Formats: sequence, structure tokens, C-alpha cells
Amino acid sequence: MLDGVKHIILILSGKGGVGKSTVSTQLALALKDKGFKVGLLDIDLCGPSVPYLLQLENKEILQCPEGWVPVYTDAEQKLAVMSMGFILPNRNNAVVWRGPRKTAMIQQFVNNVCWGELDYLIIDTPPGTSDEHITVMENLKTVKCDGALIVTTPQAVAIEDVRKEVTFCKKTGIPILGIVENMSGFVCPHCTECTNVFASGGGKSLADTAKVPFLGSIPLDPRLGQCSQKGESCLIALKDSPASVAIQGVITKL
Ligand code: ADP
Repeated sequence: MLDGVKHIILILSGKGGVGKSTVSTQLALALKDKGFKVGLLDIDLCGPSVPYLLQLENKEILQCPEGWVPVYTDAEQKLAVMSMGFILPNRNNAVVWRGPRKTAMIQQFVNNVCWGELDYLIIDTPPGTSDEHITVMENLKTVKCDGALIVTTPQAVAIEDVRKEVTFCKKTGIPILGIVENMSGFVCPHCTECTNVFASGGGKSLADTAKVPFLGSIPLDPRLGQCSQKGESCLIALKDSPASVAIQGVITKL
């Protein structure tokens, strides 16, 4: 039930491992710390990582007469999370489903979860453009989806896949909120010099070519993953670090 949700943002990436779930989680935590009520929906059915990232792995979904009750990260119920990871008996269980079963599960995630009143619903999607993306878009048609945020890393091979995401959004009529470049350089914790481990600037130049906004670059910072696992937003835990400044920059542009 999305009637009480004010803003819906899809997080997309061309490839796995570029930090899409980390960015989704950190955006959700940052918005929560700004005082908003936030939902985080993980529709990666085959590789749900949000429960692991937020250390919510042993939590279970409760049922109420209206549908599923999401898992809350905090006592004040400011961040609600729903993921296939809560349904699987354990993390090593594989989901081997054909399209129609995946479609039915995503329909349930969109229509049968009691999200209540939310300022933002962040939807973390699987990499690429698959059944899950098409189904979620079809089910969001009746409600207002603000648009998609595309996460990439700076390497040329990842950037090439982002072009496909841009085309997918254009074909399905999803507005592109912008591109975020993750793992964009490594900031030395000792001297704070930034080394571009991969080529730099790929996300920005793709955004310019595709005529979509560039929302910022998040550097490699091992502390970012640790923050998520403690349910902390880097805005507070890593205040003034380049990663925190970048996430702050992204949320101000949403
Ligand atoms: P995806 O959702 O794209 O598959 P994840 O968000 O699961 O990627 O990230 C993959 C791994 O990279 C995780 O271990 C995560 O902690 C780490 N990671 C992601 N972004 C960063 C970053 N900016 N700095 C350091 N580690 C990162």
C-alpha cells in the first residue's frame, strides 16, 4: 500500500557490486537522520543484501490484517525495511524462480506491505534491467514515482552498462533523477590525498552525454560499509568525510 508515500525513488545500476545497495541504504539512513520517515524496499529477489547490510538478518516479517508489516530499524519506526531476505529461511538459500513467480512477489511487495505514512520510499533493485524492474514500474504506474537514481563506478565497462539503464528509463518513461559515481577514488586516511584507483570522471561525462544530472562522486571508504551495518548514516558517523559530503550532496538534489 503506497497511498501514504510522498516520494518514491528507484535505485538502478548496470552491474552488480558497484555499491547500489550501499548507496540505497545510506540514502535511507541519511534521510531518516534528517527527520524524514523512510521506507527501504529491496526487490533484489535473488541476491537480497539490504538485511545483511543493515544487520537485520534474523528479523521476521509480521502479518497484519492489511498485509505484511515491514521490519523497523529503530524504536521510533522512522526506517521501515522490506526484503526477500526476511522471507528466506537463511542467507544461503537460493531463489530459483521463473518470471511469473518473481512478478507475483514484487506485486506483493508493492501492494501488500503496510508502509503507512512515508516521506520517502527508496527501492533498491537488482543490477541490470530484468523482470523485477519491469514489474515494479508497471505496479508504480498508478502512484507517482519521482524517478530513478543510477549508481555506477568510474570504469569504462561499468559506464557502458549505465547507457542501457538510461535507455531503459527513457523507454519506460521513468524520469532520471541523476547519476551517482561510487568508488570514485580512494582517500588515504593518513594524508587525505585522493588516488583514482579506476579511471575518473566517467559518471560525469556519461551524465553530460545523456543530458541527465550528475549527482556526485562517493569515494572508496571502508568505513561506509561499517556504518550501514550499525544502522548509522555516514552523515553523522563520518561527519565531514568526503563520503558523507557526497551523500549529503545527493540528498539535497533529490
Ligand atoms: P551492489 O548493491 O551494487 O551489488 P553493494 O552495495 O552490496 O553493491 O557493495 C558491494 C561491496 O562494496 C560491499 O561490501 C560494500 O560495503 C562495498 N562498498 C560499496 N560502496 C563502497 C564505498 N564507497 N567505499 C567502500 N566500500 C564500498
